[in-house]
Amino acid sequence: MLIVGNWKMNGLIETAQELADGIVAGLGARSGRSLPCEVVLCPPATALLTVHQRLDGSVVKLGGQDLSEHESGAHTGEICGIMLRNVGCRHVIVGHSERRADCGEDDAKVARKMAAAFRDGLQPIVCVGETLNERERGATLEVIGAQLAALVPYVPRELTRRQTLVVAYEPVWAIGTGRNAELEQIREVHGFMRRQLEEAFGADAARMRLLYGGSVKPANAGSIFGLEDVDGGLIGGASLKSAEFLAIIDAVPEKF
Ligand code: PEP
Repeated sequence: MLIVGNWKMNGLIETAQELADGIVAGLGARSGRSLPCEVVLCPPATALLTVHQRLDGSVVKLGGQDLSEHESGAHTGEICGIMLRNVGCRHVIVGHSERRADCGEDDAKVARKMAAAFRDGLQPIVCVGETLNERERGATLEVIGAQLAALVPYVPRELTRRQTLVVAYEPVWAIGTGRNAELEQIREVHGFMRRQLEEAFGADAARMRLLYGGSVKPANAGSIFGLEDVDGGLIGGASLKSAEFLAIIDAVPEKF
């Protein structure tokens, strides 16, 4: 299981330090060795280095929230994978629906960014998901299928434990809205994604990780994580309070 906290555009240096310290202390008190999941924090870019320093010696890993598809050069305001590695990142979120909506990132661009993350030695966490309009007109699986299909040619054939395909299913209508996808809706999409990946990658698909994201809270985390084909969660709002985030980690079933 993999639990990822996406802090989005929240937190100055001091608050980022406090939040990271609270999570590390909470996990330490629960004994890092028996943690049932890997934990990754994705602070805003300005807090990456300081959070990296706070995570030093803990089991918690660091991730970026986005990266450039380019390696370096004249791309004002962009951050490339090597720069993320340089401040301690092992992971990076790619194609979050807020970037797809705010920055016009389409499936092809998201796929190129994922390829850049693989190239630069990062573990990409690629977000997919349908809008409310797409769900209401019955197009959910078609949309998810197209988003996954765009990724397939860019996934390296030689995957490792540190670099595999991680996909986060995040229905756009459930992000930051407090509105939850029903368990049956999550089960349907995750099962569909696993089958799509099996068709594309055969036996390797079993080692790819499928996260769920969208208003995950301590109260609903256990039932979501207990679903077949759910290998973890991408947590937004609830990752901004250490107690809530820790309670979500506590909800990971022991079997993992
Ligand atoms: C997210 O931003 O990826 C997310 C899932 O947000 P929230 O948990 O707040 O819905």
